[in-house]
Amino acid sequence: MNLILIGAPASGKGTQANHLARHFSLKNLSTGDMLRRACAQGDELGIRANTYLREGQLVPDDLVVQLVLDRLEENDQGIIMDGFPRTLAQAEKFDILLEQRNMHLDGVILIKVSDPVLIKRSTDRRFDPETGRIYNLHFDPPPDEILARLEKREDDNEEIVKERLRIYKDQTTALITHYQKKNLLTPVEGSRMPEEVFFSILEQLNHGQRQTEQ
Ligand code: AMP
Repeated sequence: MNLILIGAPASGKGTQANHLARHFSLKNLSTGDMLRRACAQGDELGIRANTYLREGQLVPDDLVVQLVLDRLEENDQGIIMDGFPRTLAQAEKFDILLEQRNMHLDGVILIKVSDPVLIKRSTDRRFDPETGRIYNLHFDPPPDEILARLEKREDDNEEIVKERLRIYKDQTTALITHYQKKNLLTPVEGSRMPEEVFFSILEQLNHGQRQTEQ
């Protein structure tokens, strides 16, 4: 099974990608995580991507497509893409990459969450550098004993989150139309608890429900 997750910053893409990867034994490819790792390692890609990430801008298509290309392998049994593609150009390149590998998409899940909830979730988001676990100070509070070691993503401050949201909306319409035309789009209401969102995704995938019109 090959899936794509589309959603605004803090829509819960990462959490749902992890659940789906475990449930269906999929390789989880998060371009945001890959880029953050490259920045932390300071390799050539990281140096080129760093400013874009800090300012909440999209990293140029060619860099991101190359990153994904490097991670796709001939014997991949199934993948879940978290945060890629993000532009129509990336989606078109990805179609070609999949076709060259005789892979096909089974679904594109669109997680929908309102702007005020997204902003609140982002600014309250913290991650544990030791385990990679993501918490929310409000909705999913961490245990007191690890509170001191938690970190906030540099791009999770309100001003940058608003810019990321603007870019997301700007780019996503074309992306949604692209996958609607292919009859692959599965919209899911994402403002509920993560478990409820996950079950709703499973249900929709099982029933092959797709939205052809917005
Ligand atoms: P995310 O963790 O998905 O919210 O991504 C964090 C940041 O990584 C984004 O704000 C972009 O700067 C960059 N990024 C992640 N995926 C992509 C992509 N597919 N295309 C361009 N930039 C990306």
